[in-house]
Amino acid sequence: MSNKDAMVHETPEETKKAPVEETAGETTPPVREIPLHSLDMRRLIALDACTRCGECLLWCPVYDQDQKEAIIPRRKVIDFLRIARNQHGVIAKLMRSDRVNPRLKEILGRMMGYREIGNEEIADFVKNLYECSTCGQCEVVCPAHIDTVNLWEDLRRLIVEAEYGPLESQKALEKSVKAFDNPWQQPRAGRTKWARRAKKDGLIQSEPREIQKTGGKVLLFFGCTASYDVNVKQVAINTINILEALDIDYGVLGKDEKCCGSVLLRMGDPAHERLFRENIEQFNDLGIETLISSCSGCFKTIMQDYPKVGNLNFEVLHTVEYLTRMLKRGQLHFPHPVNRRVTYHDPCHLGRATGGFDAPREIMAAIPGLELVEMPRNREYSRCCGAGGGLKAGYPDIQNRMAQRRVQEAEETGAEALVSCCPFCFQGLNVGISARQSTLAMKDMSSLVAESLLGYDVFERAAAEAAEKAERKVREKEQKAAEKAAQKAEKAEAVTG
Ligand code: SF4
Ligand code: SF4
Repeated sequence: MSNKDAMVHETPEETKKAPVEETAGETTPPVREIPLHSLDMRRLIALDACTRCGECLLWCPVYDQDQKEAIIPRRKVIDFLRIARNQHGVIAKLMRSDRVNPRLKEILGRMMGYREIGNEEIADFVKNLYECSTCGQCEVVCPAHIDTVNLWEDLRRLIVEAEYGPLESQKALEKSVKAFDNPWQQPRAGRTKWARRAKKDGLIQSEPREIQKTGGKVLLFFGCTASYDVNVKQVAINTINILEALDIDYGVLGKDEKCCGSVLLRMGDPAHERLFRENIEQFNDLGIETLISSCSGCFKTIMQDYPKVGNLNFEVLHTVEYLTRMLKRGQLHFPHPVNRRVTYHDPCHLGRATGGFDAPREIMAAIPGLELVEMPRNREYSRCCGAGGGLKAGYPDIQNRMAQRRVQEAEETGAEALVSCCPFCFQGLNVGISARQSTLAMKDMSSLVAESLLGYDVFERAAAEAAEKAERKVREKEQKAAEKAAQKAEKAEAVTG
């Protein structure tokens, strides 16, 4: 018996607990096998390491919202093992063997409580597996130290390979990345549209420098959300203003930038490897020293997941880490105060995933006038906003409630703004701000940094200038109308007089 077989060995006790499967009709599609053989041995060991202690239940932000026992880690582990044993266990193999006598199979089946698991039961497990933002909170609190995020992603990969996933509502994201290299169903050519618009609106002085022309040593990777979502444009705009103000030798890929592939990876689609490889080749060919990104999702993916596929000839930093390094070297000073009381939301992919807790706080502490009030759940216990892991596409209602819960926590600090370091969190938390009609302003860290460097908020200034221009136009129009009326009156007086 192999180790894998031993781990999926089914006991009568456990099979008795399994829910009763409905009888399959003639048209029911055959049950597809979950390809357990492609799962790393460590994963199976991890599955068996769960002591069912339930600590994860107390912390899971999704469970916090829907109280569905079936989505918590220990249940997902139990359910997956049941399916795995049913398809790959010793008894399952005997039951499927042509060499075992049918009568013996019947006796064995009865003795061991064996029954085939149907598509419906697998579909239920799949729904539960995707009702998770891969936030990693369970990993932090798990006393058995199970690396749950990798575990969920690995199980999703098996589910996709067996064509049971992702969920229908997530397929548009998946198709879009494959067709357009971005998850937002936008044409490739639209990736740099925001920059032309921003220049026209006076939000940036010039369009970002293209690294292919400048040969800069720092590549700024925007990511799809900052590039395409007009509501998140402040992240890209402020990052450009910061790099320009600090005279950094940076460059961007412009229309040649592609999705980092994180959406596919988190949902279990093996097609992420194509993007990983293409991006690695493109980045390495540039001869850069550093890749920076203001998106925590892109940052985590490029920094942690790309090296599993290929070597990176450069270092990868979140923009906030790059700035903290400059601060420590005395190359960054904040000349203007930013008099705001703010609270900070640690993005799961910067904080829990990569340990990036201090850099954002060091930057905020260095900005004069800025007051940080922490939420009770911060750093490794930061409550996820629900935007990641495909949850927003799969379960928008749950994401909305998760974001509202986080926004409520932020409101209770008395802060005027909620700050984060990720366009995805920006988008996700804004859902909660709108739903609660909160007075909190959503800010990306880049906007606080840019405001202190420039001495003003570019959006506020552009809005004030636009308002002034509109007012001037009205005044001119009124003046012209008054002049016309006066001329008319003069003429009339000349005629009558
Ligand atoms: S990763 Fe987060 S959302 Fe998913 S099960 Fe763990 S705690 Fe819950
Ligand atoms: S905290 Fe870890 S060991 Fe405990 S039930 Fe959750 S996954 Fe299992």
